Amino acid sequence: MRKIECISIFDMLKVGVGPSSSHTLGPWRAAQRWIAELQKKGTFEEVEHIHIDLYGSLSLTGIGHATDIATILGLCGHDPVTMDISIIDAEIQKIRESKKLQINGEKEIDFSIADDVKFNRKFLDFHPNGMTFRAKLKSGKKTSSSFYSIGGGFVVKKERKNASKKMKSFMEFPFPIEKATELLAYCKAENKPISEIVLENEKSLRSEEEINSGLKQIWDVMLESMYIGCHTEGTLPGGLNVKRRSFEMHQRLIGEEKYDSPENWITAIRRTEVKFRQILKWVSCFAISVNEVNASLGRVVTAPTNGSAGTVPSVMMYYMVIENHEATFEDMKRFMLVAGEIGSLFKKGATISAAMGGCQAEIGVSSAMAAGGLTELLGGTPEQVLMAAEIAMEHHLGLTCDPIAGLVQVPCIERNAMGAIKAINAAEIALESDATKAKVPLDKVIETMWDTAKDMNSKYKETSEGGLAVKVNLSDC
Ligand code: SF4
Repeated sequence: MRKIECISIFDMLKVGVGPSSSHTLGPWRAAQRWIAELQKKGTFEEVEHIHIDLYGSLSLTGIGHATDIATILGLCGHDPVTMDISIIDAEIQKIRESKKLQINGEKEIDFSIADDVKFNRKFLDFHPNGMTFRAKLKSGKKTSSSFYSIGGGFVVKKERKNASKKMKSFMEFPFPIEKATELLAYCKAENKPISEIVLENEKSLRSEEEINSGLKQIWDVMLESMYIGCHTEGTLPGGLNVKRRSFEMHQRLIGEEKYDSPENWITAIRRTEVKFRQILKWVSCFAISVNEVNASLGRVVTAPTNGSAGTVPSVMMYYMVIENHEATFEDMKRFMLVAGEIGSLFKKGATISAAMGGCQAEIGVSSAMAAGGLTELLGGTPEQVLMAAEIAMEHHLGLTCDPIAGLVQVPCIERNAMGAIKAINAAEIALESDATKAKVPLDKVIETMWDTAKDMNSKYKETSEGGLAVKVNLSDC
């Protein structure tokens, strides 16, 4: 029996802390999982000392991506969804100075960040983003566990067999989908748009009430990240001296309009007279704002990753403030259902990990997700939705990952704006096309992206060993 991975919309769109889903959120979750493992085995109380080994891409860009901080916060029992992010710096400083760590907030051990978090250049075989947690127990015995952060905050253990055993069987979804052609066939057979097919699948996992409240939370975090970004001045952390740009950009765009909450802000933006050049600026401003929040360890939604977190919300805002002033949460829900499904097609058929596929796997996928979501809301047929996703990815193929100084800032922040603009353009082209005669099916572009990923030199896969990362020095900035 053919097994098809059932990916929930809430696996693709997750609340997390920046700057990276694979290098921050994933390692954070891995640390939490390891603590849970120790508790399950009954060895938690015996732990005397902990050491973390970060490998491959997690090591090469780990400092810029705050991988060390994320793993430590996970060990301390903090959760990326609920933690008060304003206390992160103080928490880490306390551990650095005291050389003590409260594992799971319950048990104090000696811990030196400088000595007990090791960045290893070596790559583990299974995946470029490997990490091993090691503990010494009171008895003198040692225990360790390795995890792999495979993109978008997903974390797996080494054993492929176990991973596939845990995979839910395709029987759990009423409409099992591995390829875009299957999704399209269900839409035709049921005479339903893509969002309804995805909703039916999601309803097999949770009630519609839970889906609505979960998606409302996702949208609220997206909106808040745009709002915070547009209202925060200053320079981003990390040493590149990157000035936050969305603040001034937003001030010029919003003018004298008054508002006192993120919801009123949407209405205020709708009141501004938006001309063509301003549309591009508004969309860029929304995308940049999210990724400035992400770069400063703020709270964003992975869509499908943290590095590409700005593309989908900025296109959703575009729909709300430019295309449809009557848009409601129902529209945002449809957008997210379609976008999530497009993202999961890429995850199943290729990758959403920059360490595996370069930036095409992040910004390219986010652009395809946004293009698909927008096309359905603009009245596109399922064929046009898939065509829009295909166009968006087609023009990101081969995009490399080369973050300067390993920070998710340059080129990452602007790339979200470019991904968003391409998504809108892809939707418009698809809506003007007879998508039943599309020359390049979405499945083919997914295959091509994966082939390109496999051929791509490793220095362009989130290692900061090629491209802009080696052309531009910190001292030049
Ligand atoms: S270059 Fe692209 S893939 Fe690499 S960290 Fe930046 S946004 Fe992510």
